[in-house]
Amino acid sequence: MVYVFGKLDLIREVLKKPRFGLITDVDGTISRTTSSPDEATVSPKCRHYLTILCRKLTLIAAISGRPATQIKEMIGIDGMVYLGNHGLERLGEGDYELAQNTKDYSQVIKTVLKELTPSLSGEGIIIEDKGITASIHYRLCLEPESVMKRILTAVKSLPQARSLQIMEGKMVINLLPDIGVNKGTATLKLIKSYNLEGGIYIGDDHTDIDAFKAIHTPQSDFQGLAIGVISKEMPQDLTKEADLTLNGVADVERFLGWMSEELS
Ligand SMILES: [Mg+2]
Repeated sequence: MVYVFGKLDLIREVLKKPRFGLITDVDGTISRTTSSPDEATVSPKCRHYLTILCRKLTLIAAISGRPATQIKEMIGIDGMVYLGNHGLERLGEGDYELAQNTKDYSQVIKTVLKELTPSLSGEGIIIEDKGITASIHYRLCLEPESVMKRILTAVKSLPQARSLQIMEGKMVINLLPDIGVNKGTATLKLIKSYNLEGGIYIGDDHTDIDAFKAIHTPQSDFQGLAIGVISKEMPQDLTKEADLTLNGVADVERFLGWMSEELS
C-alpha cells in the first residue's frame, strides 16, 4: 500500500495535464459511513474544497449507488456532474441522461422487493428502492455475515431477479439492471466525453474497483491514478487495484485541501 502523502510528486505530475478530471465516490469517501444511509452527510471540508476545485478542473464528478438527484442534494455544488445508480444516471447542469433500456427496470425492482420484503423484514435490514436499482443494507444486523448469505439466497431464488446484476458492497447488496453498466464503464465514458488527459478516481468499496480498472485502461493521452480509501470493512481487492491509499474521510479532506492549494 502506497500512501498518497508519500507520493505527492507522482500526483503533481498527473495534475499538470491541462484537461484534468477528479471523480469521487460519495459514501465512505467524502461522507462518513453512518448506520443508516439517510443519516449520511457530505463532510463540510470536502464540500468546501470540491467547490474550489470545481472552478479549476475540467471535470469534477461524484458517482454513487444513490440516485443522481440525491447525490446532487447531498453535495449541492453547481458545475459538478452527478452520476447516480452506479453510473446508470448522469445529472449535469440542466441536463439529465438515463442509460438506455433501463426504464422498465423500475417495475422489475418493485416486483423483486415486494417478493423479498416479507422474508427479509426485521432484524435491522434496510431495503432501499432507488427506482431502477435497489440496495439491501445489513449493517445494523447482529449477525451480518449470516444475514448477507440469507439475502443472497433469497435474491438468487427469485425468477423475477434473473435480469438483475447482484453487486456486493460494504454491508450492502445492490441489485441493478444487468446491462453491463457500472462505475467503470461510467468512468470511461467521462474520460472520453471530456477528452481528459489526466484524472484521479477516489473510492472505498467493491463497486469502485471497476472504476480503478477503468482508470488504468490504456487510452491515448490519458494518465490516471486510482486512490483507495482504507477502512475496516473495505474489500481485499481495493488496495490491490489502487495506486495509492488514504486513511478514511479525514484523509480525503486533507488530500482535497492539498489539491486546492496546489492548483491555486
Ligand atoms: Mg463508497
